[in-house]
Amino acid sequence: MKRIAILGSTGSIGRQTLEVIANHPVDFAVEVLTARSNYKLLIEQAARFLPATVVITDHSHLEKVKTALSGLPITVGGGQEALEQAVTGDRVDMVLAAMVGFAGLIPVIQAIKAGKQIALANKETLVVAGELVTRLASENKVDLLPVDSEHSAIFQCLMGEQHAEVDKIYITASGGPFRNLDIKALEKVTFHDALKHPTWNMGAKITIDSASLMNKGLEVIEARWLFNLRHEQIDVIVHPQSIVHSLVQFCDGSLKAQLGLPDMRLPILYAMSYPQRLNGLFPKFNFTDYPCLTFEAPDPVRFPNLAIALEAMRIGGNMPCIMNAANEIAVEAFLSDRLGFYGMTKIIEKTLQKATFLPVAGLSEYIESDREARSIASSFV
Ligand code: NDP
Ligand code: MG
Repeated sequence: MKRIAILGSTGSIGRQTLEVIANHPVDFAVEVLTARSNYKLLIEQAARFLPATVVITDHSHLEKVKTALSGLPITVGGGQEALEQAVTGDRVDMVLAAMVGFAGLIPVIQAIKAGKQIALANKETLVVAGELVTRLASENKVDLLPVDSEHSAIFQCLMGEQHAEVDKIYITASGGPFRNLDIKALEKVTFHDALKHPTWNMGAKITIDSASLMNKGLEVIEARWLFNLRHEQIDVIVHPQSIVHSLVQFCDGSLKAQLGLPDMRLPILYAMSYPQRLNGLFPKFNFTDYPCLTFEAPDPVRFPNLAIALEAMRIGGNMPCIMNAANEIAVEAFLSDRLGFYGMTKIIEKTLQKATFLPVAGLSEYIESDREARSIASSFV
């Protein structure tokens, strides 16, 4: 039995992870649950799954969680320190990182240093500090198992293959809800329109990133580090049905793809059960429901955020960290109606120009760059 610490259990990935665990009670147990502020759901989850430890990072809710769980054998902690302690506890076998944004970076690093297996949904961790995180994982002999569906697909396609024989990978993108809109229409879209994703049901931040194609940019950077590829080895292809989750092309021209319904419980289950496969208890793919799978190139003119992310990756150093921070601020502002769709792009571009560039960075530099970029981006909003 694997004992799992779920960081961000109240979010979209966190809740689906608990569904997977509920379906496989012999294989997995919940050891730690954490959330930022949704104390009501956290209490419900804790009462049902009885983890050893629960952490709420927003201190103002700590007493409520403590009181609600007082009759149960559960240790309740508050704040960042409690979170870091919980993920490194002796009884934790695997940390499933499903927090959103830069906040995932430090707990993931702590978990890696403590030798925990990592199931990684929090892509921002690799966008900000991919070189550092993958190096630490290799030094500590820790697997970084992708939860992101595209990366899970590539990981599965690479099974049994030689790294030197990989020519390139194709990361598929649904194209988001605005795939067919022209620039004039895109200038007017609101966050309500953006939150209606055609194929995936996800948290607010990644849904906005999907609408702007920033999510694909983040995923290219994530793939670059997870699979140790050069940037010219990664291509993005729009595939609106979200059935082909990504592909690998080998040096002989052969392509391998991984397919399945757009259901995050599949890559979550695979990351948790790896290197085994367990019986999936969710709906399975039916070919006659999908007689037509289509592919098209992304449009860099209507969706400039993808190109911005690729350029930040090419420049390297702390550029992706600055871009990520500016994007987090821009998405927050878009979600509260303080920015338009292309306003997000402008904020990111202006922040990239103004923030301090460092060609080489370690954890403390990333923390400082994140802080500086957030403050610059906020001033432009
Ligand atoms: P949600 O917004 O639905 O959930 C985020 C979770 O993280 C919540 O539990 C939230 O707690 C917690 N959280 C947020 N901020 C903090 C913080 N500062 N400190 C501690 N905890 C925090 O996000 P998703 O589940 O959609 O996404 C999670 C990650 O997985 C993201 O990095 C995303 O890119 C990635 N991902 C998601 C996919 C999806 O289908 N949803 C697919 C592939 C990757 P609270 O509820 O209390 O606010
Ligand atoms: Mg994805």
